Amino acid sequence: MLNNLLKAIYVPDHEDPLVALSKTTHLAVGAHQDDIEIMAIDGILACYQNADQHFTACTVTDGRGTPRAGAFENVSDAEMAEIRANEQNKAAEIGKYAAQVQLGFQSHQVRQPDFKGLADSLDQLFSHTRPKIVYTHNLFDKHSSHVAVALRVIEAIRRMSPETRPEKLYGCEVWRALDFLPDEKKVLFDVSAEPDLQSALLTVYESQIAGGKNYEQAVIGRRIANATFQDPYQPDQASRISIAMDLSPLIRNDDLSVPEFTRALFKALETQISQTLAGLLGQ
Ligand SMILES: [Zn+2]
Repeated sequence: MLNNLLKAIYVPDHEDPLVALSKTTHLAVGAHQDDIEIMAIDGILACYQNADQHFTACTVTDGRGTPRAGAFENVSDAEMAEIRANEQNKAAEIGKYAAQVQLGFQSHQVRQPDFKGLADSLDQLFSHTRPKIVYTHNLFDKHSSHVAVALRVIEAIRRMSPETRPEKLYGCEVWRALDFLPDEKKVLFDVSAEPDLQSALLTVYESQIAGGKNYEQAVIGRRIANATFQDPYQPDQASRISIAMDLSPLIRNDDLSVPEFTRALFKALETQISQTLAGLLGQ
């Protein structure tokens, strides 16, 4: 299995793959090519040109099912998988990642509970990286492959011994923004730095932009909107903000179920809205 993981690794500065993995302090695990650059910009920026912190990205699926249009309309599944893998590796170069892992699974495999291939790969990934901070999809994402990846990451971390687990696990925004969460339930990342790098990491996905999905404008716009709409009473504290759901309680307490955790988030939102309404209605 280690051999399979090594075959799936691209190391932008060509050092030994195991050495590159072992330097990792920040790890992001996303379903598709481009998810990392959309959701884990906090980790990319924290490690960019930083001698002490190193970012590793893991993309779980192979990009075969990508919708296509324009110049990419007649591209086969196999060609599309190669195009997307190359785009992802280019992003890893631009962002100066320590390593880019592409596991190449198909979406239906990822969504299948107890699929051993992914579990084994994630076990290997975590044992060779030992990150402090991990970014993945949030549990309210509307793309089922994204939620599946988040669940598999939680399961993999729970298989680690408690003293080797990451300190933090964040569920980040892709196919659902997290601005609606109550403020005390949100993690805000100030991602104002390196605006040109942020755009370069998203415009590298030509196959997506040509296919009618301008993620560069949408993602940068979301970050700017998050910054402005955080506090109605204060001037903006940052020019760009990325929001996450703190999933760390799920990797500290193995008895906390995912449905129980998500219900508590809904309950906090419901309580906040109900209290505001009750106060204004004099009830
Ligand atoms: Zn995705």
